[in-house]
Amino acid sequence: MRHNVKENLKKVLEKLPAGVKLVAVSKYHPAEDIEEAYAEGQRLFGESHEQEIRRKAGVLPKDIEWHFIGHLQTNKVKYIAPYISMIDAVDSFKLLKEIDKQAKKNGRVIKVLLELHIAEEETKYGFSLEACREMLAAGEWRELENVAICGLMMMASNVDDAETIKREMLLAADFFDEIKAGYFSSDDRFCERSWGMSHDYAIAVECRSTMVRVGTTIFGSRTY
Ligand SMILES: *Cc1c(COP(=O)(O)O)cnc(C)c1O
Repeated sequence: MRHNVKENLKKVLEKLPAGVKLVAVSKYHPAEDIEEAYAEGQRLFGESHEQEIRRKAGVLPKDIEWHFIGHLQTNKVKYIAPYISMIDAVDSFKLLKEIDKQAKKNGRVIKVLLELHIAEEETKYGFSLEACREMLAAGEWRELENVAICGLMMMASNVDDAETIKREMLLAADFFDEIKAGYFSSDDRFCERSWGMSHDYAIAVECRSTMVRVGTTIFGSRTY
């Protein structure tokens, strides 16, 4: 069935308060679907596979801001470094360092978010709060001049229970305040709290999200 990308996109945008950005998650969907959203003014798109994003970026308008939202292997950074706008899920210092290195080679500064692991699920990537504190306290990241740490990202547990989702998102929001005060109080670039997907973005905007990542609700279900 064809999805009405235009209508779906409008419905999502209507539910977002001013100041909350939408990353339209287009992974596994064809470039034509992205064009449809683009025609409506959407410019931020999220993808999670290096080859897929490269293929799409090659044929789609150059003013699209591509977000790499999935788990990124260190050896893939070099391929996306020339054009990626933001890498949303940095989950190790090693990856951060590699992004800096490749950004430097391309004469760019790449925006990144640090991914937190807060959900109960074992399979999720990301820094534990303690590991994130340790990484920042160690201070080596300060030498990385070609990455801009723009905030935090997390995925709440994939459950129906709104209270659990809320608790996890608010924990992330509190943690954002701690990190902002401790390390980035004079850095305006550190301002994003990226949580909220198709099933929980309405909750996320109540929990201080500034950037939701919505796929299925806009583009329909994915066939992998
Ligand atoms: C796929 C994906 C999304 C979008 O999920 P939907 O449920 O389709 O909205 C958001 N964030 C990340 C990190 C993803 O991998």
